Amino acid sequence: MDNKKLKLHIAHLYPKLLNIYGDWGNILTLKMRCEWRDIELKIDSIELNDEIDINKYDIYFIGGGQDKQQITVCKELQKHKTSLLKARDNNAVFLAICGGYQLLGHYYLPHNQNKLEGISLIDAYTVAGDKRFIGNVTANCNFIEPQTLVGFENHSGLTYLENDTQPLATVQIGNGNNGQDKTEGARFMNVFGTYLHGSFLPKNVSFADYLITLALKKRYSENIELKKLDDTIEQENHNLLINKKY
Ligand code: GLN
Repeated sequence: MDNKKLKLHIAHLYPKLLNIYGDWGNILTLKMRCEWRDIELKIDSIELNDEIDINKYDIYFIGGGQDKQQITVCKELQKHKTSLLKARDNNAVFLAICGGYQLLGHYYLPHNQNKLEGISLIDAYTVAGDKRFIGNVTANCNFIEPQTLVGFENHSGLTYLENDTQPLATVQIGNGNNGQDKTEGARFMNVFGTYLHGSFLPKNVSFADYLITLALKKRYSENIELKKLDDTIEQENHNLLINKKY
């Protein structure tokens, strides 16, 4: 890679509607961890009725939200389903948190509501559960180092994965996708979903770097090793949260 300035471009999908529990902190983490490495990161907020030019973006982020906001966003996402599927197939990186994650599957069926159609970026579906899962989560993710992921969950939706869509992690503490099969989150190609709020990435900086590396590979078609950062504080915070129920 010659020494021209590396660049990445993020589309932040519907931040005015899906940004519960400080999910914007994930964008801030990617921004800072790129800037600390002199990678120019451009962030576009995509709101209702905005166009999405998939030729521009390397990363897509969508946060969580309550059923009401999900109803609005799911209708909007249907307009972009074909192009976002194409972005996925072009190895764009997606990170979706909780309510946003649910909408990347085939559908989300809330209590006493019509089914919310998803955009099927992943083979998964979500149905409303009888209780709300609220609390800290520790899970094991086998493709990053350290392998633990920590965060906070608050959802009643139960998500089930199908076919080639793999779990992001295996639950050690907490409920994850459905409180039954010990799976947390999902991965298909470079599409990642998780129930972990908190925000997620500041507490799991090795995963943040993993996403940046994938996005650089998508844009520059080569593996670019990231400069090591002093993550002493971030790792101390991460370790404090491991196996911390409340
Ligand atoms: N409304 C969805 C649920 O309760 C998602 C909630 C969220 O994004 N925290 O499962």
